[in-house]
Amino acid sequence: MVRKRIVIKVGSHVLTENGKIAKDRMRDLVELISSLMKRDIDVILVSSGAVSVGYTVLPLDRWILGNKQVLSAIGQPLLLKMYQEYFGVYNILCSQVLLSAGDLDSKKRTLLAQVAIDGLLNRGVIPIINENDVIATEELEFGDNDQLSAYVAYNFDAEMLVILSDIDALYDKDPRLFSDAKVRREVFSISKEELDAPSTANNEFATGGIVTKLKAGNFLLKHNKKMFLATGFDLKDVRSFLIDGVQKGGTLFYSKR
Ligand code: ADP
Repeated sequence: MVRKRIVIKVGSHVLTENGKIAKDRMRDLVELISSLMKRDIDVILVSSGAVSVGYTVLPLDRWILGNKQVLSAIGQPLLLKMYQEYFGVYNILCSQVLLSAGDLDSKKRTLLAQVAIDGLLNRGVIPIINENDVIATEELEFGDNDQLSAYVAYNFDAEMLVILSDIDALYDKDPRLFSDAKVRREVFSISKEELDAPSTANNEFATGGIVTKLKAGNFLLKHNKKMFLATGFDLKDVRSFLIDGVQKGGTLFYSKR
C-alpha cells in the first residue's frame, strides 16, 4: 500500500493558553497524527510555539533584540519533550528538524534534507520541523511557519498542507472585525490584492496572520498542491476531512487545473 504524505502546521496560539502550554490540545493533535499514521498517511509536523513555550518558563520581553532567540532556544527542547511524551503513548518516535531558508536554496542541499525526512518517515518517525529561529538572520529566514510549511510540503513531496489555526476557516473579511464575515469553503486562486494586504496576526506571538496563510496557499496552488485551513482548537473538522473525507468546516484551497 502506497503511503500518502501530508504536512500539518500548528500555530503557537493553538499550543499555548494564558501563558501555559495547552496540553489537551497538544494531546489531541498527537492522537490525530497517530490515527493518520495507522491509516497509511505519513505526517510531517511543522510546529510553532518555541518562543511562547520559552516564555512560559522565562517571561522576557520578546520585542527586545535577542530575547526572541533566547526564548526560542529555551522553548524548543521543552516543546519537543512534550511531543516526545505524548507520541510515546502511541509508541511513536518523534524527531526535531530545524530548518533555515539556506537549507532549501539549492538542489544539493534540498536533496540532503529530503534524504533526512524520507529516512525518518520510512522508519515511522515523525519529523517535527521549526524554523531555526535561534540563528536565523533576516536574509536567511523563511519569516513565518505558514510559508515554511508550504515550502516543506513542496520540497518533501507532500500532497497537502493542513494549517491548524486560531481561526476555523478563511472568511471574506476579518471575522474578528466584521460580524457579517462569511466563510469561504473553497478557494481556487488568490488575488494580488489579498496577498499584499497588511499582516493581521492577532496575538503577541503570532508572526503570521491570514496573509501569510494566503501566501502559503498561493505557492501551493501554483505547484498544484492542496491546502486545508481549519481550527486547531477543536480537531473535529480536520479529522472528518482527513479521515472520513468529508469537509464539514474549514477552507480547502486547490487548483482546478
Ligand atoms: P496562527 O497563530 O494560528 O497562525 P494568526 O493569528 O496568525 O494564526 O492568523 C489568524 C487570524 O487572522 C485570525 O484569528 C483572524 O483574526 C485574522 N484574519 C484576518 N482576516 C481574516 C480572514 N479573511 N479570514 C480569517 N481570519 C482572518
